[in-house]
Amino acid sequence: MKTTQTRPTPLVPPPRLQPDSLSRVETIAQLVAWAADRFKTAGIDTPHLDAEVLLAHTLHISRSCLYSRLQEAVSDSQKTNFQQNVVRRTKREPVAYITGRQEFWSLDFQVNPGVLIPRPDTEIVVETALRLLASSRITAPRILDIGTGSGCIAVALATELPHAQIWAIDKTQVSLPLAQKNAHAHRVGQRITFACGDLFGPVQPSAPFFDLLVTNPPYIASPVLDTLQPEVRLWEPRAALDGGADGLDFYGRLLYDCPDYIRPGGWLVAEVGDRQKDAVVQLGHKQRRLRFQMYRQDYAGRDRVVVFQKAADVEQ
Ligand code: GLN
Repeated sequence: MKTTQTRPTPLVPPPRLQPDSLSRVETIAQLVAWAADRFKTAGIDTPHLDAEVLLAHTLHISRSCLYSRLQEAVSDSQKTNFQQNVVRRTKREPVAYITGRQEFWSLDFQVNPGVLIPRPDTEIVVETALRLLASSRITAPRILDIGTGSGCIAVALATELPHAQIWAIDKTQVSLPLAQKNAHAHRVGQRITFACGDLFGPVQPSAPFFDLLVTNPPYIASPVLDTLQPEVRLWEPRAALDGGADGLDFYGRLLYDCPDYIRPGGWLVAEVGDRQKDAVVQLGHKQRRLRFQMYRQDYAGRDRVVVFQKAADVEQ
């Protein structure tokens, strides 16, 4: 016969563990260790870094300043604020949404959950655009940014090109005040016109006008979205990520329409997703007024940016 073993009841109840208690945690060094531990348990890739960034943010000091004050104690209210930020991060909210900031092109951008967090990969779009303009010696280009989000591409280009006129469109209304704020913070607000609409919707159809069109469109295939890391899947705006069944919805429409807006000899510089380059180039081949010009890889060696040029020798 099988006997069931019952556990002996302890005479003295074990002490209640309070893993989230901060009562014995006093110094900056201890707070970082405490938070990093929680982040590790939550499956976060960079627990220590995130703990430092969030503590520096909470204390309104830089990360380097944190190192010189490791043994200092913090006030109770600072502890409470930090704890709240740590809880947000353990729910996999991205650090950038908690701090409200993200660096891009060595510039500080405000971000919120209404916009995609600027990625280092997207700097390749900026760099490619600058090279094309420099090689053709266009000093006062007219540029159109489609799907501007936080405004990072438009603002970065404007800071590099003091004579550029830029138009920036986004289909989500909520992103535009933020993009505008970023443009003003970097003193380029006067040279960027922001508008809300789908694709080229807000641009008056006239003679092809733009020297350059830049875009980081939504390009994740819908079925892949739910497999992405929680920071992206749960927090970043779907509208900025979801590129339809194969991720290519946006490119089809863009490549079909863009020659009406780009002057002959002008360029389209588009970010593409992992392994999408060939499909996007194929879509471009269907448009007889565009020539595929080149692609660029990101820092991880993935094809990341595709460049088309509008033929100089075709009728409008
Ligand atoms: N680069 C982003 C990511 O991989 C996607 C951005 C986009 O769809 N444009 O999460």
